[in-house]
Amino acid sequence: MTIPGLMQESDLMISSLLRYASEYHGGMEIVSRSVEGPIHRYTYRQAEQRAKQLANALINQFGIEQGDRVGTLAWTTYRHFELFYGVSGMGAVLHTTNPRLFDEQISYIINHAEDRILFIDLDFVPLVEKLLPELKTVEKIIILTDRDHMPDTSLPDVLCYEDVLAAESADYDWPTFDERAASSLCYTSGTTGNPKGVLYSHRSTIIHALSAAQNSAYGLSIYDVIMPIAPMYHANAWGLPYVAAMLGAKLVLPGPKMDGEHIQHLIESEGVTFSCAVPTVFSMLFQYLEDSGKKVDTLKRTMIGGSAVPKAMTEKFREVYGVSVLQLWGMTETSPLGVVACPTPEVDALPAEIREDVMDKQGRVQFGLEIKVLDEDGKPVPRDGVAYGDLWVRGAWVTASYYHNEGGKVLDKDGWFPTGDVVTIDQYGYMKITDRSKDVIKSGGEWISSIDIENLAVGHPKVLQAGVVGVFHPKWEERPILVIKPAPGQQPTEAEILDFLKGKIAKWWMPNAVFIVDDMPLTATGKIKKITLRQKYKDCLKE
Ligand code: ADP
Repeated sequence: MTIPGLMQESDLMISSLLRYASEYHGGMEIVSRSVEGPIHRYTYRQAEQRAKQLANALINQFGIEQGDRVGTLAWTTYRHFELFYGVSGMGAVLHTTNPRLFDEQISYIINHAEDRILFIDLDFVPLVEKLLPELKTVEKIIILTDRDHMPDTSLPDVLCYEDVLAAESADYDWPTFDERAASSLCYTSGTTGNPKGVLYSHRSTIIHALSAAQNSAYGLSIYDVIMPIAPMYHANAWGLPYVAAMLGAKLVLPGPKMDGEHIQHLIESEGVTFSCAVPTVFSMLFQYLEDSGKKVDTLKRTMIGGSAVPKAMTEKFREVYGVSVLQLWGMTETSPLGVVACPTPEVDALPAEIREDVMDKQGRVQFGLEIKVLDEDGKPVPRDGVAYGDLWVRGAWVTASYYHNEGGKVLDKDGWFPTGDVVTIDQYGYMKITDRSKDVIKSGGEWISSIDIENLAVGHPKVLQAGVVGVFHPKWEERPILVIKPAPGQQPTEAEILDFLKGKIAKWWMPNAVFIVDDMPLTATGKIKKITLRQKYKDCLKE
């Protein structure tokens, strides 16, 4: 029989991260490119003061209670950072919405989350003006700016963030409550159907941050200058606003400008050593560096994830710019740290070609996350780097179910979460994604639903079957192509089909090519065999 340990228990609170940073690294800087334009700089100490003013404002001015959802449509800046701590810290739930989603998805998400108030950046005022009639629960809108920059807007009774803060004192004690309480909410649109909410808790966020802060994960320490380019609405900027405070490291927030020129400028002027983004962002940076001849000499490591990292990108970073690349595989559902391609002594000792092949994979797990790979019969596949199967994950920062139980039960009976990715694992423990069983395409870090395009395409009278798959594209990593089997006796053309889709889907969802075929590959159950299509057309968009 076990006996109880005699150690203290304290709930893991997100506010404790900022309190720590403020108390022990109070002078360390947080630098932002503001939405208004100029560079803004202040310290962790000032950030905590303002997060406390914000917490007071939520309570006194808006009557926000613990558990209420507070929405944001905002870039990665110091004000959003204050919301990360002020909202979660007082016990409410920070709901970050991706402004790049379609209008209908944004209003769906805000209504589904039942956001009571909404903090928005200046850039999103026109968007919210347009969406407001659809927003059922929003009582108040606060624009993240100062009095001088308040825009003319049709939004009723809109408030100015700096005025809201100025009316409050920083006299506030962060409350302690059950660490399992919800802290933030992020919707994933990674599947067809409606977006689903991943509801993080204080506990999951802190444990995730502890894992990500290990040197063997993101490779960070207090000596790093950390710039998350992955936005704060994208799985909480991969946890970095929490990790940086935990380490007391300097934080650089790029605001709305994520193009090569602005990113290069911030890297050099602020001495950024570590950054993270989807591959497309770094392609834009390369383009700028090549055109301008500028450098990123302070940068030591980049973490790249969200989509597979092209080998050429890793090589260029290493050989031309002296930057090492860490690939990350993760999902909104995994907070997002899943696996990281960090080196081990065993892999370091391998001959160069083998080592590079291993290091180009998505990576290996950190302590705290378990993975299993099962074949079609539900049996574990051997860890030989060849056998592949469905990837399942389990751990303290993996989602257990979606908000409002959307999609029903997601875990298997032993608590494993199905990722929808198809992978191999090699003898060194490195996972490689070989395919995706979920029917989606990821282009430039954003999702495209293949099913939605197929459903539209089969609506054309000359189309019998339509299959959409993502294939490699040098700029966008993946782009959709459409394969059509015509209805009997019909001969549709590519132009006809594209014309038919025009206006029915967003421009960036339009397939890059249409192939008309006589035979569509089908599975035993009569579904389109996507794996065969992906294989057959894999090089069709290569330059
Ligand atoms: P995120 O918001 O972090 O991009 P999503 O939940 O939107 O997470 O997407 C997760 C999916 O993105 C994964 O299931 C996988 O299909 C894909 N993905 C993430 N990282 C990688 C990677 N390094 N290589 C290939 N695919 C990846």
